[in-house]
This record gives sequence, structure tokens and C-alpha cells, in this order.
Amino acid sequence: MSSLRPSPIAPTVDFDRDGVQHGFLRLPYSRDDSAWGSVMMPICVIRNGKGPAALLTGGNHGDEYEGPLALYDLARTLDPKQVSGTVIIVPAMNYPAFRAGTRTSPIDKGNMNRSFPGRPDGTVTEKIADYFQRELLPRADIVFDFHSGGKTLDFVSFCAAHTLPDKALEQKAFDAVAAFAAPFSMRMIEIDSVGMYDTAAEEMGKVFVSTELGGGGTSRAQTVRIARRGILNVLRHGGIVAGAVERSKTQWLDMPSGDCFSFAEDDGMIETMVDLGEPVEEGAVLARIHSTGRTGIAPQEIRAKMPGMLAARHFPGLVKAGDCAAVVAVHV
Ligand SMILES: [Zn+2]
Repeated sequence: MSSLRPSPIAPTVDFDRDGVQHGFLRLPYSRDDSAWGSVMMPICVIRNGKGPAALLTGGNHGDEYEGPLALYDLARTLDPKQVSGTVIIVPAMNYPAFRAGTRTSPIDKGNMNRSFPGRPDGTVTEKIADYFQRELLPRADIVFDFHSGGKTLDFVSFCAAHTLPDKALEQKAFDAVAAFAAPFSMRMIEIDSVGMYDTAAEEMGKVFVSTELGGGGTSRAQTVRIARRGILNVLRHGGIVAGAVERSKTQWLDMPSGDCFSFAEDDGMIETMVDLGEPVEEGAVLARIHSTGRTGIAPQEIRAKMPGMLAARHFPGLVKAGDCAAVVAVHV
């Protein structure tokens, strides 16, 4: 690590100063329309003395809105007198992607959540990842990263943490998930964990918590309410914000293996046969993919490989071969 050059990102905030600071992470980005221009990523630091630090992010994928809605709101409303320690808020982590309303960056097509540990001399997305890896993650005790389904997936609303080899760390993460008190709480596995922010934080020994709240490239009143209440609950649970956690019933779900995921094997038009949150039997038809090139062709059936509940589905009406069509989770 020591051989890496310094990050080109300059913060306009002082992480060790008490009070509320609204500023930027400024990343020089020279381009056609701005010769000596910069990417200006909003950041808010709310600090009140020594104590634990939380690093809160939304917009890791630029087309997911519950996190940014909750975090711009928190940055505007959180009173430092209520805080013990530090809250660092980056409401739109992949800011170029967020500005474009796309999952990945329009500058370099970088998927922030596949770009860790990043590079100080890499693409814009890699430079942002590197800054989180070397400057922001080391400051945090708890790391909370909001996700939703984006334009191509829709989820039941859950807060999640990963099963980890370090069981003490895993338990701390699941305790924070329980405090978030979403309708569902997930023990999550990943299809492809290499390069994820999650993995970077966990390998650093940080408590890492995430969400999937709805999707479809928009937000809903209910999912935003869940996000706003949940993040305050996590901060209260961590002793960073004063007040009692607002507990409510949550249903724990597990993703025990890769059999949770079903993928389209053909292009076509998807017909959802089960709605989110509905129970499914093993072998049940979750969706049908209709060929659109000609009539008279039987649809491809996407079947559940395990019994459980439909936790996620493909969102747009058209699918391509390889798209994630459905995710089944199991009640714990
Ligand atoms: Zn996401």
C-alpha cells in the first residue's frame, strides 16, 4: 500500500473538526468541457467529540434512490448535539453515475461495486474507490451502504449483512441489521464478491451493512420511509446518535446457496408468475420468458430451485440471456 501514490482527491472538509460541514471530495477530471475541471462529490461530516465513526453511502450504483434520499435528508437534519463521535455521509458515492441516472459511470463505465480496492492512478471510478479504500474506510467503525434494485431489479425491502468467517464481526453486522428493522433482514451471499466495497470493508474488519430496498430505477414512499428510519436506528444502535432504537418486527431470510438465483437463458419478454414476497415451492414457475421473434414458440420457464419466498425479480419487461430473472430466499 505504501508504494501507491497519494490519492488525487482533495476533501474540502476536515474530518477531525467538530460540528457540521457540508463540502466536497474534489477529484480533478480534465475533459472537453472543462480543461481544469473536477468531479465534486458531496460529502457531509457531522462530528461531536471522540467516539465511534459511521461511514454512510448511497449511490454506489447511480440508479438507486432510497439511499441518496435518506442520506441527503440526514445530512440536512442531523443535529450534532445528538451525535457522539462522527457521521460521514457520502450520499452519492459514484457521483458521475448518480448524475447520469445510470448504474455505472458514464465517464469510464466503472461499476463502483466492482472497482475496489481501486487505484490512485486509474480511471475516475477507480480513483474514487481508492479514496474510500485508503482514506474513508480506515476512519469508520461501521460502514453502511444503501442499495436498491436499480433499473433492472426489484426487491422486497431488506437490510443485509454477509455470513463471514469472523463470527464475532458477523454477529455485530447482524445486530446492526436487526436494529435497522426493515420488513426483512437478510443473511446474504454474493454472486461475485471480488472488487466489492462490501468485501473491502469486511477485509478491513469493519462492520458492514447494506440494503436492497425496492428498485426499478425509482423510489417508493414506503421504501424511503424504511431507509430514513433504518439509518437512524443503526446510528442509535451504534451509540453514535442519542435515542432508543425504534424496534419493529422483521422477518429473517437466508440465501443458503447459488441456487437462490435464476438466470434467463434466452432473450425475450418476461412474464412474472409470482409477485415479490409470495411463497414459492421448489420447482414452481417463477417467470416465463416469451420469444418475441415469431409466434408459436413455447415460453422458457424459470423454475425455483428451492422452496422459499420471491425476494427479487427482473424489473423491465424485456430480458436478455444471462439477466438475473428471479431470486428466492429462505425464511430462517
Ligand atoms: Zn446497487
